[in-house]
Amino acid sequence: MPLSKALFEYRLRKSARARHVRLRITSRSGLEVVVPRGYNPARIPGMLEQKQAWIRAALERAEADRKPSGPEAVWKPPDDIELPALDQVWQVTAREADAPWAAVREIGPGRLLIHGRFTDEHASRAALARWLVRQAYAHLVPRLEELSRQLGLAFRHVYIKRQRTRWGSCSRHRAITLNAKLLFLAPALVRYVMVHELCHLAEMNHSPRFWSLVQKNHADFRTHDRELRKGWKSVPRWAC
Ligand SMILES: [Zn+2]
Repeated sequence: MPLSKALFEYRLRKSARARHVRLRITSRSGLEVVVPRGYNPARIPGMLEQKQAWIRAALERAEADRKPSGPEAVWKPPDDIELPALDQVWQVTAREADAPWAAVREIGPGRLLIHGRFTDEHASRAALARWLVRQAYAHLVPRLEELSRQLGLAFRHVYIKRQRTRWGSCSRHRAITLNAKLLFLAPALVRYVMVHELCHLAEMNHSPRFWSLVQKNHADFRTHDRELRKGWKSVPRWAC
């Protein structure tokens, strides 16, 4: 509960264990006054005044910690989004609105609007991530279905997720999961991931039989498998 009658805004915390008044300053919550049980809060403003030089210096240090210098320090939505998998580039326009959320909307060919509280990094990245997942459902799933028909390997479910360490997976229940971040990769790599997962429908392992099935359907599999490992570098920071 911030109180502002005193020289500084502060948060008051009563502690059963504290024996003296203690001042804490953190970059996250600013000034916190920890008082022992029975301490009269009316004494706080006077006490803060006495220690104001120390408090001011500590607050400045905390503020500097909170805003590290450098261009990446302040969150800003991306100016454009490139999706090599779909050969698309989106121009992003940001529009502030008094809302507790942020949302992403397509407003024209290759034009994206992020509106609402886009200055909030968490809200903004969540909205962009939701859009990315929608793109993946709209474009990657039909491709997987097409390949599935070509290869004669049928899956039962397909899911789009945003994993940190896997581009795709295939479960015993014939469910294929594709990573929405595949959209940041070249089409050939995306095809390899799809072929790889589809082949798991026939061979639930990485045996020589599995790899020869992959090779039959995707000749460049060795090169592309290697390139995939470095593929994470193609994922922009906002989408990580
Ligand atoms: Zn595999």
